[in-house]
Amino acid sequence: MNTDLVIIGAGPAGIFTALELLEKGSKMKILLVEKGQSIEKRHCPKDKTGKCLSCKPYCHITTGFSGAGAFSDGKLSLSYEVGGDLPTLITPELAQETIHYTDQIYLRFGADTHVEGLENTEEVKAIRKRAISAGLKLVDCPIRHMGTEKAHDIYLGIEHYLAEKGVEMLFGYECRDLILEDGVCKGVHITDGRQDQQVYAKHTVIATGRRGADWLETICADHNIAHQPGTVDIGVRVEVRNEVMETVNRVLYESKLVGYPRPFKNKVRTFCQNPGGFVSQENYDNDLAVVNGHSYKELKSPNTNLAILCSHNFSVPFNQPIAYAQKVGELTNMLGAGQILVQRFGDILDGKRTWPKELSQSNVRPTLPDAVAGDITAAMPYRAMLNIINFIHAMDQVVPGFAAYETLLYSPELKFYSNRVKMDAEFNTNIPGLHCLGDSSGWTRGLMMASVMGVLMGRQLAKHN
Ligand SMILES: Cc1cc2nc3c(=O)[nH]c(=O)nc-3n(C[C@H](O)[C@H](O)[C@H](O)COP(=O)(O)OP(=O)(O)OC[C@H]3O[C@@H](n4cnc5c(N)ncnc54)[C@H](O)[C@@H]3O)c2cc1C
Repeated sequence: MNTDLVIIGAGPAGIFTALELLEKGSKMKILLVEKGQSIEKRHCPKDKTGKCLSCKPYCHITTGFSGAGAFSDGKLSLSYEVGGDLPTLITPELAQETIHYTDQIYLRFGADTHVEGLENTEEVKAIRKRAISAGLKLVDCPIRHMGTEKAHDIYLGIEHYLAEKGVEMLFGYECRDLILEDGVCKGVHITDGRQDQQVYAKHTVIATGRRGADWLETICADHNIAHQPGTVDIGVRVEVRNEVMETVNRVLYESKLVGYPRPFKNKVRTFCQNPGGFVSQENYDNDLAVVNGHSYKELKSPNTNLAILCSHNFSVPFNQPIAYAQKVGELTNMLGAGQILVQRFGDILDGKRTWPKELSQSNVRPTLPDAVAGDITAAMPYRAMLNIINFIHAMDQVVPGFAAYETLLYSPELKFYSNRVKMDAEFNTNIPGLHCLGDSSGWTRGLMMASVMGVLMGRQLAKHN
C-alpha cells in the first residue's frame, strides 16, 4: 500500500494532524491506522456488568478513534502551563496561540461555550492566599469541560468529517514496526492479527498515546531514534465528598496545585479533578489495572475525585522508568487480587489496612464499587507515599477537610510519559520522514496539548504539498 502520509494512532494528536491538513487545503493522501475501533463501535461493557472485564485484545476506554479522549472527562485545559512540556519545545507564545486556535475547532464541532475558572477573582485570590501559606502554587488554567458523553459526540462528528473529506481510516490494525531504508523512514508494518501489510509513505507520524509509550520506547531503542528517559508519575486517586471541595469546585472547577514537600522536595501535583465525578478503572494490555477518574455533564455523584501525582526522574545507571512504575502497579494489583486498592487516609496514618465494613461507616462511599479495601502502603514506594501524605496535609490548609480520616486513596494511579523523543520545533526526529506526536512522544499529557501538537504537525506537513 502507498500513501503520502501515514498516521499511527487516531487519538487527538493524530486526528488533529489530519484535520489541520484539510484546513490548509492539502491534497495529501492520508491514511490513519488505529488498532482500536471506530467511535460507533467503542463500548465499555462495564456499563452493563458494573465490573471491569479486562477486555481483550484491548480496553475500549483508551483504544479506538479519539484515543483516550472519547470516554475521557473531556476537560480542555486552555493554558499552556498545563498539559506537558511542549511549550518548552515550541515556545509558550506559540503554544498559547495554538491552544486558542484549536479550541475554536472544538467549539465548531459542538463543545460547550462556557469556560470554567474565569470568574470569582476575589475567591480565587483567597484560595491562592491559602495555597501560598501551605507552600503550594496555584496554577491558573481556564477549562472548557466537554463532559464524557459530549466528548464522545464531538469526536464522532470529527470522525465523520474526516471520512467525508477522504481521509482513509483503517481500524483494527496495529503498527508493529517502521520500514527503514538507508536510515530514512519509508512507512510502517501493520497487522490486523491475521495478515501483515507494508504501508509505504513519504511521511510517517507516530501518535500512539500513553498506551503506546512502551511500544515506542522499544522502537526507539531498536532503530536508534534519539530519545531520553522521561518522567513517570506515581500516585493515588483521592476521593472526598463534594461538600469538602465545594468552594474550589465552584470557583475553579479544577484546582491545579503544585508543591515540593519535604523531605524529598520532588514535584507533587493535583491532576484531573472531577467534581461530582466517578472513579474508574482502566486495564492496560498487560493486564495492569490502574485507577482514573471522570465526570459526566449530567449524571453526578456526591463525591469529587482527583489524582495526586509524584514525578519520578531517574539517573544513571537506571533508565527504565516505565518498567519501574509498572512494577509498582503490578505489586498493588497483586495485593488487590487484580482490582484497584482503596484505603482511608486515617488508616494510612494509623498504619493499618482498611476493612470493607469500615468503608460503609464513612460519609464518603467509593464510586468505584469493585475497588478492594486494603493497604496501599504495602506496595507504594516510601518516597512516593511520604510525598503524598505530606502533600495531602498541605492540601488540607487550602481545602479544610481534605486530610480527613475517611478520605479515600485509590491505587495505583500511574502516568507513563516516558521516553521523550528528541525532536526539533518542527517535530523532526533524527530519522528523516519520521515524526512523533502526543502523549507517546513524551511532550504532551492532555487532550488540548496533544491536539495542539497535531495542529502544528499538520501545518508543517502542509508545506510539503
Ligand atoms: C479515563 C481518562 C480520562 C482523561 N481525562 C482527560 C481530561 O479530562 N482532560 C485531558 O486533557 N486529558 C484527559 N486524559 C488524557 C487524554 O485523553 C490524553 O492525554 C490524550 O488522549 C492524548 O492524546 P494522544 O493522541 O497523544 O493519544 P491517545 O488519545 O492515547 O491515542 C492514541 C491512539 O493510538 C492507538 N494506538 C496505540 N498503539 C498503536 C499501534 N501500535 N498501532 C495502531 N494504533 C495504536 C490507541 O489505540 C489510541 O487510540 C484522560 C485519559 C483517560 C484515560
